[in-house]
This record gives sequence, C-alpha cells and structure tokens, in this order.
Amino acid sequence: MMGIGRYAPSPTGDLHFGNLRTALVAWLLARSTQRRFVLRFEDLDPDAIIEDAYAAQRRDLEALGIDFDGQALSQRDRVDAYAEVIAELVNRDLTYPCWCSRREIREAVAAPNGPVEPGQYPGTCRELSRAERAERAESGKRPALRLRSDGATYSFDDALVGPVSGASDDFVIRRGDGTPAYNLVVVVDDDFQRVDQVVRGDDLVSSTPRHLHVAWLLGIEAPTYAHVPLVVSEAGERLAKRDGAVTLSDRRALGETPEQVRAALAVSLGLAEPGESPSMDQLLDRFDPALLPRQPFVYAPAGNGPNTADNVAGVTSVTESSERNSSS
Ligand code: GLU
Repeated sequence: MMGIGRYAPSPTGDLHFGNLRTALVAWLLARSTQRRFVLRFEDLDPDAIIEDAYAAQRRDLEALGIDFDGQALSQRDRVDAYAEVIAELVNRDLTYPCWCSRREIREAVAAPNGPVEPGQYPGTCRELSRAERAERAESGKRPALRLRSDGATYSFDDALVGPVSGASDDFVIRRGDGTPAYNLVVVVDDDFQRVDQVVRGDDLVSSTPRHLHVAWLLGIEAPTYAHVPLVVSEAGERLAKRDGAVTLSDRRALGETPEQVRAALAVSLGLAEPGESPSMDQLLDRFDPALLPRQPFVYAPAGNGPNTADNVAGVTSVTESSERNSSS
C-alpha cells in the first residue's frame, strides 16, 4: 500500500521561511519514498485563524513546487470525530477534569521535589476526591479534560533526531472552552488521513510520547517521525514576522522570484550551493535525509537590500531548544 506524508500548518497568517523549509523537507521525504502528500489545516482555534490564510498558504507552497494530493482537510470539519474519541476515552475511565491554571502548574513544577519535567503536568487534579471536585466545580470555571498517562514512556527512532525516548504526562485533550487539543487530534487525524510519515518542526519532539500514548490507547499504528531543526533569528529565537522579510510575499516584494526563495531554502538544507537554482526534480535527486543539517538554521535579517540565497546566513549551531504545545 502506498504511504502518505503530510504538512499540517495552522492558517494563522503567511508561512515564514521556517514553515516553508519544514514543508519542503516533508514533501521531499514523502516524494522520495513514493508517498502521496496531503495538506491538513490545524484550525481549531477560532481566535487565531485568518480566513485568507488557507488559500495564501496553499498558494505559496505550490508556488515553490510543493504540490498536494487531493483536497486539504480542515480540523474544524472534524469536531464530531474528535468528540467521539473523547467520549470513548472518558468511557474507558482514562480521563479526569482539571481546574489548574497555567500559573498553578508552573508553580507546582517549580516547587522543591517537583515531580516532573518543565512543561509536563504535575498531576495536581489526578487524585482529587469527589468532594474536592465538587468544590472546584462550584467555582464556575470550566475544567479542561486530561488523559491519564501513568508515566508511560515511549521510544522511537526519529529519521533526523535519532533515537528518542520520553514519558507522556497527563496532557490536556479538551480545553476548558471545549476545544479538542492538538496533542489528541494530531493522532486522530493522521490516522484518518492514513498518514504513515510525520515530518514537522523539532519543537514537537518532546510532545511525541504523548502522541504515541494516544496511538497506543486507540490501537493506531504509529507513523515514522522526522523532526526538522527550526529556523531561528540571529538572536536565537524562533523565527517570527518581526525578523524582517520572512514570508514568500515579503521576499517577492523585495524582487525575488519563488525559484530564488526555493534556492535559498535548498541552500539552508545543504541541497544547493549559493547561486544555483535547482528544480524540484533536482532537489529530489539530491535529497538524502541522512545528510540534512541537524542544527537550527539562522536566518539573516532582510532589509540591507534584497535577501537572496547568497546572503542567507550559513548553518550555525544554537543549543537552546524551544518547547511548544508542551504545557497545554
Ligand atoms: N500545526 C503545527 C504547526 O503549524 C504542526 C503540527 C504537526 O505537524 O504535527 O507547527
């Protein structure tokens, strides 16, 4: 059976250089292994969504040569499926309500003898008595729903990061406002779309044991993983709009063509020399996951003239890693 790879952006604005770079690696890994490649919009947070971003993101990806099979999937069309899975987990007694605020969680983790890693839930609401739950419920605050993980640990062999093992914590599967959470739906949707190869930013490595826990509970076969080092600013921070000409539109406004931006992406991945303009087929020929850079890529700020493949900074080692989706 033919495998399937995917790219799963959130339609919250234009994709930046780091997003485009991860998408290009996902496409190259899928196509070089004869996989189909699908698009999924992670759009469950209505406050963050920008309606124009769906079409703009797809247009930018396609302008670079990143093509998709079939229609994009939107998570907001899938809320019934998520509700069913959540009901199943509740029925299996694998969940509990949690009233903790972010601050309470931070403080519990920072406490002496704090039981868990930063970003992991310390278990405050896990063993509340019936009376304690009733008391919290009376506050009127709507609880989040957490999945019991019982410290289950998982190992996987990441195509870029190498062997990884880590514990799942009792993470949120439904927020207090009723929205199903990323760490649950990512697994449900990858299964629904028959994705067997997951490529994404390496800020999600630490959340992957949670995904493996969900897959195990639901009897879903785990995909293979490749976590791509992030693109960072010169200050070592995750790349963002404030870092200058970071999107395809920004760079087009500076006079670059999509081919030039593709070339810059290829240079950043060690797949082209500055000044070359490789086609997607050439990139596929050259692509070897074993040779991809394993360090964050430092993005040179634009603004001193057009930001071309020639003046995008080389690969620099940055040791801080960032955490995302880990505390929610
Ligand atoms: N939606 C996430 C992002 O935009 C990606 C999540 C995933 O690929 O699993 O970074």
